[in-house]
Amino acid sequence: MPLGTRKVEKFRRDLLKWYDAHRRVLPWRALPGKKANPYYVWLSEIMLQQTTVPAVIPYFLKFTQKWPKVSDLAAAPAEEIMENWAGLGYYARARNLHKCSIIIANDHGDKFPKTQNELNKLPGIGDYTSNAIAAIAFNQPANVVDGNVERVMARIFAVTEPVPDSKPLLKSLAGVMAEGELDRPGDYAQALMDLGATVCTPSSPKCMICPVSKQCEGRNQGIQDTLPARKAKAAKPQRQGHVYWVTDSRGRVLFERRPEKGLLAATIGLPTSEWVEKGGKAAHLAFLPNPRPLKSIEVRHVFTHFDLTLSGAEVSWPDHDPATLAGYFWVEREKIETLGIPTVFKKAVKLFNSLFVQTDKK
Ligand code: SF4
Repeated sequence: MPLGTRKVEKFRRDLLKWYDAHRRVLPWRALPGKKANPYYVWLSEIMLQQTTVPAVIPYFLKFTQKWPKVSDLAAAPAEEIMENWAGLGYYARARNLHKCSIIIANDHGDKFPKTQNELNKLPGIGDYTSNAIAAIAFNQPANVVDGNVERVMARIFAVTEPVPDSKPLLKSLAGVMAEGELDRPGDYAQALMDLGATVCTPSSPKCMICPVSKQCEGRNQGIQDTLPARKAKAAKPQRQGHVYWVTDSRGRVLFERRPEKGLLAATIGLPTSEWVEKGGKAAHLAFLPNPRPLKSIEVRHVFTHFDLTLSGAEVSWPDHDPATLAGYFWVEREKIETLGIPTVFKKAVKLFNSLFVQTDKK
């Protein structure tokens, strides 16, 4: 199935030529002919794990403005990083980001290691990310395979076996294409990603303008739109629980710093009950006095592994001092917007706010 050496070389040449004319301009990328900034490459690659380029760009700009060097990030308080990460999801990434920046600052003199092996030892850096950093930041030959590259390989080689079973095959095919003397490894890796993101798109690939269409077996067979084939998805689990709008006599709202472990770990949010499987009964938080259910407040949020529905409840707690409850604190209502909170809580705050603004006006 792999192409012959000459075809592989032609594929790379055509791809790089196309990249030189059509590369995406991204804030973490070096300009043509310039050296990449390893801090930018690392930061962007961590942010891009499970997140799209348009969603990452404003966060990347905010982080690099606030913390221009890896040592600045290492010196920042963990809470500040979590708050600035809020909304990007997968919060373990932010915690590992901080841990990694501290190791780079303390043990590596602010310099990222150049080899994939050394990079792999750092928190939050797995196989894909270490390959990407080695190639893009240090121009080392590496097999960088993200979802875009998998799609391109599935189509170039007409791999009809569905993902995820075909992932090892797609990775090894990408490895064959990158084997031997590879010209400009960093650009080659980014060129493949760009091809997948802008030309060999998930639906309606633009084969008419594709620089490697002649080498594409999927297109030759007319099956490119069906690749990569996917297994039918199992239904996602549904979970449910309560989310609380707890206010004191001054109208302040109760928030919590969530536990260090688990989903949304160490982020700030409205108090919630435990989340149970749909059909189960989530008990109210035992320490809250008389939660009053609010039928009009229902917060829906999609996580990677389950869908969540939270029913809103209001609690009036005039004179309570949350200092007696570890992790809970009052926030002035007008300051809530300045908190960095995950999207699920932003949705909840918006709904509660709209309800209580209406009620306040009556
Ligand atoms: Fe993708 Fe079409 Fe190019 Fe094949 S010819 S790599 S399917 S865009």
